Amino acid sequence: MRLVLVGPPGAGKGTQAEFIAAHLSVPKISTGDIFRANVSQGTPLGVEAKRYMDAGKLVPDEVTINMVRDRLAEPDASEGFLLDGFPRTTPQAAALDKLLADLGTALDLVLELVVDDDEVIRRLSGRRTCRGCGKIWHVEFDATTQDGICDRCGAELFQRDDDKPETIAARLREYADKTAPLVDYYGAQGKLVGIDATGPVEDVTVRAIDALRSYGG
Ligand code: ADP
Ligand code: ADP
Repeated sequence: MRLVLVGPPGAGKGTQAEFIAAHLSVPKISTGDIFRANVSQGTPLGVEAKRYMDAGKLVPDEVTINMVRDRLAEPDASEGFLLDGFPRTTPQAAALDKLLADLGTALDLVLELVVDDDEVIRRLSGRRTCRGCGKIWHVEFDATTQDGICDRCGAELFQRDDDKPETIAARLREYADKTAPLVDYYGAQGKLVGIDATGPVEDVTVRAIDALRSYGG
């Protein structure tokens, strides 16, 4: 299955992507994770992306599209994938449609995680990520047993630089301006399914998997 997750920053895309990708046995492809890996390795792509990420802005389409094109060409993505955080603009969505059409295929479904701004701010301000295995935690809503230490792998947790209040506000503006129009874009294609992404993580996963099942996933 070829699936896209959309939703504002903090909606729970990364959290749900892990469960959904495992359920579908497809790779989870997160553009945010790929950019962050490049930033920490100091690659030229990372140096360029960091300027935008630190400002809460989207990385330019051309850079992002080229990166995703390369990733989708890897063998593990040939039978299906779950995209988390891409596309985020209408030109990115059009490029993805074209890329898949050239391969003789198409997206099956776009799952929208629906959460309001207040909840998103609560989620982002308490988000913590594991430096070792990448698992996403929350200081209040999904806390580790020991402060700052991952329950899954024992490594240290960190707070993302872009989860500061000023940057969160900029990211929400970018979402409203550039990403929210994708709801209409995919709605017009008949591929959009919105689910309520509030409540416990497990309940959201059940809603997501039910939605996929009703579309054959
Ligand atoms: P979140 O999970 O909070 O929505 P991500 O980890 O997906 O954030 O993205 C972090 C940052 O990486 C974004 O604010 C943006 O700067 C950059 N980024 C990620 N995906 C894209 C994309 N598809 N297009 C442009 N920039 C992106
Ligand atoms: P996104 O990838 O959309 O930016 P994340 O998956 O990183 O979102 O989740 C943002 C924060 O919200 C994380 O700290 C995560 O633990 C927390 N979170 C995710 N889903 C829920 C939920 N259903 N209820 C409460 N907190 C959640």
